[in-house]
Amino acid sequence: MTARIIDGKAFAADVRARVATRVASLREEQGITPGLAVVLVGEDPASQVYVRAKGKQTVEVGMESFEHRLPADTDEATLLALIGRLNADPRVHGILVQLPLPGHLDSDLVINAIDPAKDVDGFHISNVGLLGTGQKAMVPCTPLGCLMLLRDLHGSLSGMNAVVIGRSNIVGKPMAQLLLGDSATVTVAHSRTRDLPEVVRRADIVVAAVGRPEMVRGEWIRPGATVIDVGINRIDRGGKTVLVGDVHYDSAAAVAGAITPVPGGVGPMTIACLLANTLTACCRANGLPEPEGLTA
Ligand code: NAD
Repeated sequence: MTARIIDGKAFAADVRARVATRVASLREEQGITPGLAVVLVGEDPASQVYVRAKGKQTVEVGMESFEHRLPADTDEATLLALIGRLNADPRVHGILVQLPLPGHLDSDLVINAIDPAKDVDGFHISNVGLLGTGQKAMVPCTPLGCLMLLRDLHGSLSGMNAVVIGRSNIVGKPMAQLLLGDSATVTVAHSRTRDLPEVVRRADIVVAAVGRPEMVRGEWIRPGATVIDVGINRIDRGGKTVLVGDVHYDSAAAVAGAITPVPGGVGPMTIACLLANTLTACCRANGLPEPEGLTA
């Protein structure tokens, strides 16, 4: 069997097109333009690339983009004051503080200073609690993107066995909550899990969010299972830097029913879901119906 390749790039483009359509109608019918503020502290090169991409895509779907670049030695009070202004600014519906922050800043404190209704990354403790109790939350973008791909593929996830590898607050834990919300039977595996291959073999759905290049092997995958590879790892192969996931693609694709490639799978979904979350936040802030198919 050769797996169906899940085209995250095309799906993300479709999400952005749906966001853009609703943004246009918000502007025409309500005179509202959704706005996303991105705050970058310091000059981490990877973060600069992400922030640039976010700003570009925000403008492309017709939203307003507000970029705030602060020097690496910005103190906590200055950053909190900026967040306070963005919380109060009615043109700003979403606020994202690019992580990681420089070491002298307490990221939990900073994230929890964001108005939860504008917390489009879904990292505020209120949103974590809302998601965990099955209430309306802002949901972290990467797991939301994975959920959209899974729903598109399977329709209902009810009763399916899902194994999430990784228990981070950014991917693993919210992914598990979303799968539970869709009535999957969820196992969360992590660095201390005993006999991981055996655990993975039980899964109809495997979500790998580990950060270890090609760790999950084809022999671990139940024939026909769906494999969602969140990992983004840069490795040296024959003197060239290449991007690989947490799943060994060739061996897994030989047994899986469907699989996301790296790159071009989960990656493009993350920013698309950030835009979807900003639109959702804008609709909620204005008491308007939420965009269909773009929320958890
Ligand atoms: P993290 O380092 O915070 O968490 C990794 C998790 O993997 C931990 O919970 C740990 O217990 C588990 N783990 C580590 N070694 C293990 C092992 N040998 N067996 C089983 N579990 C093990 O990482 P993260 O932030 O969740 O990111 C995971 C991966 O996803 C990284 O490669 C990251 O680059 C990628 N990522 C991609 C996107 C995207 O947009 N596609 C977004 C976020 C993260």
